[in-house]
Amino acid sequence: MRIGVDLGGTKIEAIALDGSGKEVFRKRIPTPRGDYPGTLKAIGSLVTEAGEGTVGIGIPGALSRVTGLVKNANSTWLIGKALKEDIQREINRPVRIENDANCFTLSEALDGAGKGAEVVFGVILGTGVGGGIAVNGKVLTGPNAIAGEWGHNPLPLPTAEDLPLPPCYCGRAGCIETYLSGPGLSRDHEVATGRRESPERIVSEGGKTLDRYLERLARALSGVINVLDPDVIVLGGGMSNVARLYTDVPRLWTRSVFSDHVATRLARNAHGDSSGVRGAAWLWDQRGEG
Ligand SMILES: [Zn+2]
Repeated sequence: MRIGVDLGGTKIEAIALDGSGKEVFRKRIPTPRGDYPGTLKAIGSLVTEAGEGTVGIGIPGALSRVTGLVKNANSTWLIGKALKEDIQREINRPVRIENDANCFTLSEALDGAGKGAEVVFGVILGTGVGGGIAVNGKVLTGPNAIAGEWGHNPLPLPTAEDLPLPPCYCGRAGCIETYLSGPGLSRDHEVATGRRESPERIVSEGGKTLDRYLERLARALSGVINVLDPDVIVLGGGMSNVARLYTDVPRLWTRSVFSDHVATRLARNAHGDSSGVRGAAWLWDQRGEG
């Protein structure tokens, strides 16, 4: 069996897939926020309950390739911890750990919206903006363990409407995440209208704030296309449910992609909220491995 665990800031989810890829176990529990030993115990009990098999874990961050410790995690109690070794000790099995956006991308590349594509760029548009790259059904991690992390690149070619550059928690300003996350959309709407509204409300109103969002997303993704030239870009996270993304953004990105014709597809994820945990389960079974 392949066991996958999605360690999130609010919940931990586990699934088990049998030999044919069929889901035979699923359980979701609240994350012991701020409690590292409690987080280890919670993962251990979920894995034990799921049964025998390989264990892959998706985390909201990455393991440093220099120290092996967790970095870039918005669940800050994980930062600097030897998560891999500690979980292996807890469950007495080897584990593989990857960034959650990379797990999302792997799941969609293997049997989701990116199935059959050579290069898949996976994007999370949620409370944050993350990304991952899968090539021929295998996650590209990179020597800094940040491959695909476009959310903290600056938004390309800022216009007067984009200024002043919003400050970002990472210490810089004008990061893509500050415009394209759900909170970023609400912030932009408040700057423009003086009204604080939820992303859902802003989307349902379909006004100028959503127009700005679509145009910025097209600009930001055109930078990715120019560098990576993916076959397909798969969107996940709460904002991926907005239908207009899939019609408007590919029309808008032709302005800034360096090509006469843009063949890259923009696709909605096939596995919804389950993509992260499914991709974690597939970490031991990426294409090109035994
Ligand atoms: Zn940033």
